Amino acid sequence: MTEMSYLDGNMLDGPLRELLAVDLSAAAGRCASCGTVGPMAGLRVYAHAPGLVGRCPACAEVMLRLVRAPDRAWLDLRGATYLQVPVPPTVPPSPC
Ligand SMILES: [Zn+2]
Repeated sequence: MTEMSYLDGNMLDGPLRELLAVDLSAAAGRCASCGTVGPMAGLRVYAHAPGLVGRCPACAEVMLRLVRAPDRAWLDLRGATYLQVPVPPTVPPSPC
């Protein structure tokens, strides 16, 4: 059995910071239940739960849950197959 090499999860800090620092309303998400792809701004958000619950506008399944405490937050995206986040184009490294 070949053991694949891996990196420590700390290396995700930079790439995830780039994604999570953007305006998520500009992101598109795919509903894990019905497959509809649409802007996150199009979710139906219910704010009278212990946190915020975002439901798919097509099938009404939960795509996102966000609970905020004074010192931390929980983000549950298991109802979304993916989030597509616009990012600035990568610039190829300049020759030195
Ligand atoms: Zn759906």
